[in-house]
Amino acid sequence: MKFLCVIGDPVKHSKSPRIHNNAIKSLGLDGIYTRYHLQEESELRNLFFKLKLNGANITLPFKEQALKIADIKDKFAQEIGSANTLVLKNNQLYAYNTDATGFLKAIEDFKTIKKALILGAGGTARSIAFALKQREIQLCIANRSKERLEHFKAFQSVVYEDLRDFDFDFVVNTTSAGLNDENLPCDKKILDKILSHSKYAFEVIYGKQTPFLKLCKQYQVEYKDGLLMLLWQGVFAFELFFDIKNQQEKIKSAMLEALNLK
Ligand code: NDP
Repeated sequence: MKFLCVIGDPVKHSKSPRIHNNAIKSLGLDGIYTRYHLQEESELRNLFFKLKLNGANITLPFKEQALKIADIKDKFAQEIGSANTLVLKNNQLYAYNTDATGFLKAIEDFKTIKKALILGAGGTARSIAFALKQREIQLCIANRSKERLEHFKAFQSVVYEDLRDFDFDFVVNTTSAGLNDENLPCDKKILDKILSHSKYAFEVIYGKQTPFLKLCKQYQVEYKDGLLMLLWQGVFAFELFFDIKNQQEKIKSAMLEALNLK
């Protein structure tokens, strides 16, 4: 039997146990997926072995630590600087980042993107910037404060006030502005200029119509929210946990069913 877990702080809200357990049941596999609230970052590796886990999803704020403690680091995870999936194979800990691959899968039918703007400069923005780089899309990252733009030296990056180019065919909101406080990620006047040019948009938050999505709708921009990204990062992690291939649609469908959205 495989023992799997999501580890984070906080972790109570995580949908991962629900979606993974339903996929395990649906595919008739032998495994159980639970959650663990970790507070001490330095304990992550010990905890993984103490709980005798076969695999884990690592969520905030331990994704960078997850990469650090791994013995073998996937190229994607290494380049992004963080991992959300740990798998034990032959007594060695392997680290992967399925947020990036999950995002790419979620936007696969946005075919003709040439130039993209990422709003926000946190961990999710890093995964998404890396993912878009794989598709050779020209990128700009904009954030409300300078500090986190440090991580984006390889790209054009600015604070919102310094944005002079508003002509992007794809806009991704990676900020948590719409999560609890119902805010737009930046001044509406700036977004008005951006969205009047864009063809596609993506909001990483899922399950609610954020102010950003409402504005996209107003501008008739084709958009998706974070649900597909959540599902696909889960599907790819699940494949790694059970070392299976070619069952993606079945896994995704079970995960979606678990969220009562089928
Ligand atoms: P971080 O804390 O690393 O970064 C948050 C970013 O949001 C920073 O750029 C921050 O700006 C900005 N921000 C926060 N509040 C506001 C605000 N009120 N106005 C403008 N900017 C704001 O978070 P993550 O990148 O890890 O996560 C971001 C979001 O992505 C979360 O809502 C999370 O739930 C979601 N997410 C969704 C996933 C999915 O599968 N759908 C996967 C992973 C995350 P500053 O630097 O100035 O503080």
